[in-house]
Amino acid sequence: TGRSSFVVVANRLPVDEVPDEERAGGRRWRRSPGGLVTALHPVLVQRDGTWIGWAGSAGPAPAPFMVDGIRLHPVPLDADEIARYYEGMSNSTIWPLYHDAVEPPIFRRRWAASYREVNARFAEAAAQVAAPNATVWVQDYQLQLVPAMLRQQRPDLRIGFFLHIPFPPIELFMQLPQRAEIMRGLLGADLVGFQQRLAAQNFVRLAHHVLGCPVSGSVIEYEDRRVKAAAFPISIDVGEIDRLADNPLIRTRAEQIRTELGEPKTMILGVDRLDYTKGIEHRLKAFRELLAEGRLTVPETVMVQVATPSRERVEHYQALRVKVEREVGRINGDYGRVGVPAVHYLHQSYSRSELAALYRAADVMMVTPLRDGMNLVAKEYVAARADAGGALVLSEFAGAASELRQAFLCNPHDLDAVKDSLLRAVHVDPDEARKRMSIMQRHLRRNDVAHWARSFLTELGSL
Ligand code: UDP
Repeated sequence: TGRSSFVVVANRLPVDEVPDEERAGGRRWRRSPGGLVTALHPVLVQRDGTWIGWAGSAGPAPAPFMVDGIRLHPVPLDADEIARYYEGMSNSTIWPLYHDAVEPPIFRRRWAASYREVNARFAEAAAQVAAPNATVWVQDYQLQLVPAMLRQQRPDLRIGFFLHIPFPPIELFMQLPQRAEIMRGLLGADLVGFQQRLAAQNFVRLAHHVLGCPVSGSVIEYEDRRVKAAAFPISIDVGEIDRLADNPLIRTRAEQIRTELGEPKTMILGVDRLDYTKGIEHRLKAFRELLAEGRLTVPETVMVQVATPSRERVEHYQALRVKVEREVGRINGDYGRVGVPAVHYLHQSYSRSELAALYRAADVMMVTPLRDGMNLVAKEYVAARADAGGALVLSEFAGAASELRQAFLCNPHDLDAVKDSLLRAVHVDPDEARKRMSIMQRHLRRNDVAHWARSFLTELGSL
């Protein structure tokens, strides 16, 4: 087991532990779905790459192992670290702050200390695993200190960082007690990638504002190096969605879903992690008002809302669940009928194939986040509609809105605008709907997740 010339560092390893069918009571590792690992798989295999990350359960880490030709290097987290580094600093401080503070971020010194310690552990692992002059690609908001920590030990490395979530404007970022530390952490990279151009611009301005770095365009001068900040909008594995959407079993399943819903004229769909950034309540409220006004009616129209359980130990998420479920109950109480609820609410996690069937079945997909780095669900819905049926209602505040311009765009805070977009999508002329879908599909075909990875690594100068 030599060292790797290409190393990915992410909070989670791209594998899940599942029961082993071949050994009663046994467990085995299986590659998780996810576009990131799909996109990086060829590069990892080609370059004897290693993926460094947490294996998903508290306690000592398993020894390094291989899955599907990728070397996996687990980093341990104990229960305290999961509470402080992960649920605390990552998901109760940085996550809300970077998403426009739609819920107030909570600042705790103990969380920040744990974040620092865990980031040092990831950096240490990368320093050990990386071959001389290797490329290391650090992923996302949980690991923003890793680039600088790694460079300090290994100045020979080429280091990239990609932030999957939004990067906030100066006024918000300045609230962060660790603002200078995080900026220095990120500036340890040679290339810092963001979902959107505005985010990259925020970062460049902050480098000047917080650390006094000279900046010019997208280049920041820092400690005698030049750091580049640029946008690389992430995407999906279009081929995988194509194969799923084309599969006769999934088409049959899509028809079956519509039958089970009672053959509605219009099926509206939402698919989100149950997260306060996703605007699930706003969407439900828009639907409720349209039912109240008689502009939509049950059973001609039904909504299916998948709200995948997420971060259930974090308080804001518990409160959100209560609010969403109250709203669903209210709508069904007022507008449902025996055997025909207005909203089919599913607090469950679904497989890629069931999601593909739902996408395929839905006439209107509603994606209404208050702020979202990208929103892959929006892209998946478009890619799944090779039949060019369906219509997408999309928030202007999703990164995907910069690319999917033919969606029915709306400001989710403006309830009348959400209602208007939803009605326009419900009543769109089929020819126009097809035209809109085809343009967006063409865009996704040319800009899939492999293209994203290639663009980033080419810019980093390592491909
Ligand atoms: N997803 C899934 N099962 C579910 C719900 C969602 O596999 O029950 C997938 C979905 O297909 C998408 C991802 O989870 O690929 C969600 O990514 P997105 O960017 O939309 O939101 P995030 O959860 O990363 O904020």
